Amino acid sequence: MTDSPHPQPLDGNEMPRFGGLATFMRLPGRSEPADLDVAVVGVPLDIGTSNRPGARYGPRSIRAESVLIRPYNMATRAAPFDSLRIDDCGDVAVNAFSLADSVTRIEAHYDMLLAGDVVTATMGGDHTIVLPILRAMARRFGPVGLVHVDAHTDINDSMFGEQIAHGTPFRRAVEEGLLDCGRVVQIGVRGTGYTADDFDWSRDQGFRVVQVEECWHRALGPLMDEVRDRIEGGPVYLSFDIDGLDPAFAPGTGTPEIGGLTAVQGLEIIRGCRGLDLVGVDLVEVSPAYDTSGNTALVAANLLYEMLCVLPGVDRRG
Ligand code: MN
Ligand code: MN
Repeated sequence: MTDSPHPQPLDGNEMPRFGGLATFMRLPGRSEPADLDVAVVGVPLDIGTSNRPGARYGPRSIRAESVLIRPYNMATRAAPFDSLRIDDCGDVAVNAFSLADSVTRIEAHYDMLLAGDVVTATMGGDHTIVLPILRAMARRFGPVGLVHVDAHTDINDSMFGEQIAHGTPFRRAVEEGLLDCGRVVQIGVRGTGYTADDFDWSRDQGFRVVQVEECWHRALGPLMDEVRDRIEGGPVYLSFDIDGLDPAFAPGTGTPEIGGLTAVQGLEIIRGCRGLDLVGVDLVEVSPAYDTSGNTALVAANLLYEMLCVLPGVDRRG
């Protein structure tokens, strides 16, 4: 229990966890974004997907599985809801008939949120959504650093002839000057490519590319020490594609690749971002139709919670 004046998750001893409105972590969901420090936002878009669709249902499933999460982090002692004003601000009204219009709408929505000086914590949606979000971030902060966890680098020039899709956002972001390329790290990339040098485009931009083999059988604390050294000193965006994790932990996603990060390594990466000037975070590509146990959305909800725990201004108790 807490005497904090900030919006609080509904206590499981006041209303059973399976009851009540399905906001993220059972937050009140009644705040004006401008009154908050952190806005949790859903972007239910999946028409940028190349393979299995369904990420439009990601925010809803993440909210549903997030009911189990309690407010205090027992590992790090973080107290995000006592430290910051955090609430679920609902979803962006995307246009299911137009990817281009959806991108415009997302960008306008994030311009509005950032004008209120909030950190955004986004539930996707496919990875297309990070492009309009980064456009809004760069307009507000200038080019940002990036921690990008993913099985894929998402730097295709085009997909089926289209410039905007879930596999192209970071190529467009570089072209548009949205990223501070020397402060970009891609972690967990793997699998098969169209050419053997697919990942080299990222390296040619100055990104640090951590192929998953560099993570296998390892604790990631030392890697995250290196990441922080490389990208601290300016605003940072954290984008976590759930397919960065192995399909054993997160099968409910559109383009799964074997040999991925463990759930524990996902925690190590996020906890290793503490101390960075995070201006926005996201968790994307949860597709509940392939998530028969709900475990992918449960993992996603917990990872998003862990992101809240490392935002600037979050105190640790005890
Ligand atoms: Mn991705
Ligand atoms: Mn991916």
